[in-house]
Amino acid sequence: MIPFSPPRMDQKIIKEVIDTLKSGWITTGPKTKLFEKNITEYAGHKKTLCVSSGSAGLELMLRWFGVCEGDEVILPAYTYSATANVVIHCGAKPVFVDINKNDFNISVKEIEKAITNKTKVIMPVDLAGFPCDYNEINALVRKDKIIKKFHPKTKEQEKLGRILILADAAHSIGAEYYGGKTGALTDITVFSFHAVKNLTTAEGGAVCLNLPEPFDNQKIYNYLNIKSLHGQTKDALAKVEVGNWRYDIIEAGYKYNMTDIQASMGLVELTRYDEDMLVKRKNIFDDYSAAFSIFNWAQLPVYKTENKISSYHVYLLRIKNINERQRDKIIQLIFEKGVSVNVHFIPLPMMTYYKNLGYDINNYPVSLDNYSREISLPVYYDLTKKNVKKIINAVIKSVEEVLSQISEK
Ligand SMILES: *Cc1c(COP(=O)(O)O)cnc(C)c1O
Repeated sequence: MIPFSPPRMDQKIIKEVIDTLKSGWITTGPKTKLFEKNITEYAGHKKTLCVSSGSAGLELMLRWFGVCEGDEVILPAYTYSATANVVIHCGAKPVFVDINKNDFNISVKEIEKAITNKTKVIMPVDLAGFPCDYNEINALVRKDKIIKKFHPKTKEQEKLGRILILADAAHSIGAEYYGGKTGALTDITVFSFHAVKNLTTAEGGAVCLNLPEPFDNQKIYNYLNIKSLHGQTKDALAKVEVGNWRYDIIEAGYKYNMTDIQASMGLVELTRYDEDMLVKRKNIFDDYSAAFSIFNWAQLPVYKTENKISSYHVYLLRIKNINERQRDKIIQLIFEKGVSVNVHFIPLPMMTYYKNLGYDINNYPVSLDNYSREISLPVYYDLTKKNVKKIINAVIKSVEEVLSQISEK
């Protein structure tokens, strides 16, 4: 069976992890701090806080901005549950909007329609690694008539004076937009380093701070270190310094810190990410697109345009003119040929929890259509050319089998 996305694991990573295990320091310490510095240099934003997961990073920043009951947060209907669940945790209301027909990303037009005087945050998701329309989104929240709708309730909201953009870049580290990298494209961006993501630390995430004046990103970073560690004024490393034992708790903070074991994996991966990981993934994308482009039934994903380059996280193939049941049948046939595939994602209004809250998928026709016809193909570092061919053949055979059944009817 060809797996869907096993993590890349090699001697270099193992060596770095063992080095940490033997160092006498395994939780947040020098390697996490170095990883933060390297991420900042890599993406070009102002400051990085490493955290225990992408979800933790998103929630931490919603809390930092003071999002709570009575507030609304706009996000795409087409995303993983983490993006919406963290809004629920804060007591606020997720306002789902539909996506573009072309690329699976949140529609800026739909965002504008959804903004009310309760909107505090917009969370664009760079789905499959393809950057959202950040120029348009950044400009939208700065429009006079949109600013007039914004009612700040906290110190931070007052200081920003407009809706915050909190980008969910769980898929898109290394993606480019007008020559800039994700992390530096908007106010705050959160990466995920979960085991299936492009760059993994098993579990982990990073908050990329890029807030405009008059915010001091270094100061916010210092505060977030405390907020993500129980509100404790000194972290474990500072406390082991001779005589430096006394600390205070300034708020009921969270436990969201990254460990040096996690950071050691990330340090190795980041140094070779552009030249090695992204090149490998791009080649797989190109092979898939070349193979499927000759078929009328194939709708290929967009992963490179004049101003956008994907991080090639997942290859989202769509089959034209089929329904959800036929797609499911194709997936079953592909599995029977020894290939693991997936669907990214089942839109959130289709999930029991969100359905029970009253969301209805019929209000998101593009999400529903994209979902019904989508099949995600394996993309990972160790995927061989031979297996790429095997996957391609399995997909072609399975699609044609189902399509011929349809035409017989
Ligand atoms: C993986 C993922 C997250 C959450 O990341 P974790 O590190 O697993 O918490 C958030 N949003 C999207 C779109 C994801 O795919």
